[in-house]
Amino acid sequence: MQHGWAKVIIPAVLPCGECELCRKGRSNICRKQLMPGNDFHGGFASHIKVPSKYLCPVPDEVLKNYSLEQLSVIADAISTPYQVVKKSELEAGDLAIVIGVGGVGVYGALIAKIFGAKVIALDISDEKLEMAKKNGIDATLNIKGLDVKAVKEKVKELSKELKASNIGWKIFEISGTKAGQDLAFNLITFASTLSIVGFTMDKEKCA
Ligand SMILES: [Zn+2]
Repeated sequence: MQHGWAKVIIPAVLPCGECELCRKGRSNICRKQLMPGNDFHGGFASHIKVPSKYLCPVPDEVLKNYSLEQLSVIADAISTPYQVVKKSELEAGDLAIVIGVGGVGVYGALIAKIFGAKVIALDISDEKLEMAKKNGIDATLNIKGLDVKAVKEKVKELSKELKASNIGWKIFEISGTKAGQDLAFNLITFASTLSIVGFTMDKEKCA
């Protein structure tokens, strides 16, 4: 590495690396993890002290195309759905259905696409769906006002148009809403994998 300042990304979660969970590859839920912004100062501080163990050096050639600020989203908004897509055992050619393509979901959809899936993005915001489509997502559907049955029918139609399989759908709930979770459960078909990524405390049943 060159002399001077190293450009690094600080992971959103800094695990201990030694406990049973860490050793099992589940460092994301390490009980001794440290989170910048929660356990000590975070990104709004001018300087912070972090353990050096998990810092991710950014190669100079990457910095030719992207600023470090742009790349900082990797620490959370990209690494979260990346791990989820990997854990879902998604394979090239699978149909991936992503519910909620906001700040985390849109990366989930794009990562599924990069892994070779045919991807349908569902959201209630045309703007977010447009952004997903512009970045290469195969099909989008605005589900505002549609009931679960109608959404499932439309997803089936879209999957046919995309020539995707009608079994083994990989469903990613990233909206973090009760309505999104209800929909996600209802989209399950034979041999599906459902990944709940978004978090909500809401227990109300949505119509
Ligand atoms: Zn640990």
